[in-house]
Amino acid sequence: MDKTIDPALKSWIEVEKDDDFPIQNLPFGICKRPGESPYAATRIGNTVINLYALAKHSYIQETCIDADLFNRPVLNDFITLGKASSRRLRECLSDLFYEGNPLLRDHLQARKEILSPVKEVEMMMPVRVGDYTDFFSSEQHATNLGTIFRDAAHALNPNWKHIPVAYHGRASSIVISGTPIHRPKGQTDPNAASIPEFGPVKQLDFELEVAFITGKSTLLGDSISTKDAEDSIFGLVLFNDLSARDIQKWEYTPLGPFLGKNFGSVISPWIITLDALEPFRTSGPEQNPPVLPYLSFEGNHHFDINLEVFLKLPGEREVIISKTNYNNIYWNIVQQLAHQTVNGCNINIGDIYSSGTISGRDPSSFGSMIELTWGGTKPIKFPGGSERRFIEDLDTVILRGYAEKNGLRIGFGEASVKILPAN
Ligand code: CA
Repeated sequence: MDKTIDPALKSWIEVEKDDDFPIQNLPFGICKRPGESPYAATRIGNTVINLYALAKHSYIQETCIDADLFNRPVLNDFITLGKASSRRLRECLSDLFYEGNPLLRDHLQARKEILSPVKEVEMMMPVRVGDYTDFFSSEQHATNLGTIFRDAAHALNPNWKHIPVAYHGRASSIVISGTPIHRPKGQTDPNAASIPEFGPVKQLDFELEVAFITGKSTLLGDSISTKDAEDSIFGLVLFNDLSARDIQKWEYTPLGPFLGKNFGSVISPWIITLDALEPFRTSGPEQNPPVLPYLSFEGNHHFDINLEVFLKLPGEREVIISKTNYNNIYWNIVQQLAHQTVNGCNINIGDIYSSGTISGRDPSSFGSMIELTWGGTKPIKFPGGSERRFIEDLDTVILRGYAEKNGLRIGFGEASVKILPAN
């Protein structure tokens, strides 16, 4: 077993019970202290660890990673080194922060330069995103949306169980948790009228998703097999693909989503590696009809990750409105990446591939407002007496996620976004 994920490991950095970031997690992110330049970091408990400072003080010398790679505004150049390097770094960090290791623990001067309370740093986009693909891999979500937009008899398109359906999204509008987004304006369904309406959208929605970030580049013409796909996946983040349902409904035929989904997508700041998620592998649903050979795979590539959505109305406390699990996806990450590249489409380091909205069977586990309120017909009621059919101005949507097993909890932190009135 990989000893970095031994549930018995403890750090000399304080970690509270049920914290998302025990010493077994060791996620990667980019942060910034006021007035300083951004740097690569990891995190244990509520302490952020400056990898650039750690490298400059020669604490991670045996990884042979050039300190300068941690002194950049994104992780792309570090990720380029490959999984062998990031694994070596994980092992080195696990050893350095293990409770029995005095090397940095007892060096108070160096600790001051290397460690910061998480509330004193600003989290930045961890990667420069080149391309973004949004899959549609939850059968329940696809069925729910097909039923609401079309009808129950034609909910799932005939291709759905043969192809991990997806569209190419917009990378420029992917933002880090905490970035507010203005309500978009656009053209919406005229319904019975002869010309469409235009204005701030009325059906603003979230989509609860998990995305993987690629850690390798390929050449145009190359494909990645399901067997090799995980080697090209650096890690996972939470992903909120904000959606304007009224724009989407009017524009999506025949080419799919466009302005209804490219005005803001929000990611959680820490990239959780597949190494940290290893204990939480699980099998997915049986795939019937059988998939074509290029989509067949061996092993378990689903992950048992609890996912939650909270909605915070202005002046009120946040309330949980959905609870589901990442294993509610039909197509797994290796099938998604194999499908993305089977035609020779090249990929780059830092690309984002999102799962699509993740909905379970139970209505309390639906991953979007349009499903939870069934097209706006069944409003969600809040303790203060308010109701929501869709997201209103000044509401905050917060996604959280964590895996838990045998006393080990690996979490994602959160992806939070406040909606501001239309510009
Ligand atoms: Ca989506």
